[in-house]
Amino acid sequence: MADIRLIDRLVQGETGDVVLIGYPEDEGVRRNGGRPGARQGPGRFRHWLHRYGTADNPEEEADLFDITLTDAGDIAGASLEEAHHNLGGKVACVLARGGVPFVVGGGNDQSYPNASALLGRGGEGPVGVVNVDAHLDVRPRVDGKAHSGSPFRLLLEDERFQGENFIEFAAQGSQVSREHAEFVRGKKGRILWLSELRREGSADGVFRNCLGDLAWRCPAIFVSFDLDALASFEAPGVSCPGVVGLSAQEATSIAYYAGAHPQVALFDLSEYNPVIEEERTGRLAVALFYSFCMGVAHRLRHRSGEGA
Ligand code: MN
Repeated sequence: MADIRLIDRLVQGETGDVVLIGYPEDEGVRRNGGRPGARQGPGRFRHWLHRYGTADNPEEEADLFDITLTDAGDIAGASLEEAHHNLGGKVACVLARGGVPFVVGGGNDQSYPNASALLGRGGEGPVGVVNVDAHLDVRPRVDGKAHSGSPFRLLLEDERFQGENFIEFAAQGSQVSREHAEFVRGKKGRILWLSELRREGSADGVFRNCLGDLAWRCPAIFVSFDLDALASFEAPGVSCPGVVGLSAQEATSIAYYAGAHPQVALFDLSEYNPVIEEERTGRLAVALFYSFCMGVAHRLRHRSGEGA
């Protein structure tokens, strides 16, 4: 079994424990003034997926043999609005079938349609959201249209969502306006600056505590991960790179904790831009998927009572 890899466990379909969905759109990045190219993210992600990760990981004492991993393909749409509609529909469908969607972008604008699909399930209590991102992404719409800088404003203005269940994780004050920070706080959202995480020790440890805090009142949690939360030497291929940021090791650990938490119902990964840099960032994006899947394998084994 030594040579069985992550890719060997992935089959086409919409029903599975983890369901990969591609969102090949960067019109939202363009509308936000960023560098286009993220529409090629899902395609290059799948390329690097073929080269990464053993299905049986002896370091983690974890394997992928007991979970079902499926690839539901890419979202299409004649306009960004249509792509958002189709994305929300696909995520809702996967959730209804009991799977955990892992959506690979594409621009960060995907996060509102994704959150909206989870909120639309209804009847299951409040939804918690953690946005791992150097930015707050609470800019107003441009000409009435959503873009890659607006998803969490749309979320915080959605009456189905309660702002106290929102955490901005690893934001950087040098990349955020005071007005936007005040907007988040005015909606009762919490901002955990990168510098605060550094003072508290490991960022992944703080992330785990955040999930624990949200889990008390939110039966379902959405973790949204923008690759620009990492320092640019770790993830250069993003629309808007930052000088400082999370390390790749912290990021993979965060993805693992998200996968392992029984209440994390949805994960999205945004802003992989292979036009700017392909291999290092592509391998990192796949490493996050791999770590998330390992976490889900841990979660399901624990749930089925076979020990963890
Ligand atoms: Mn972002």
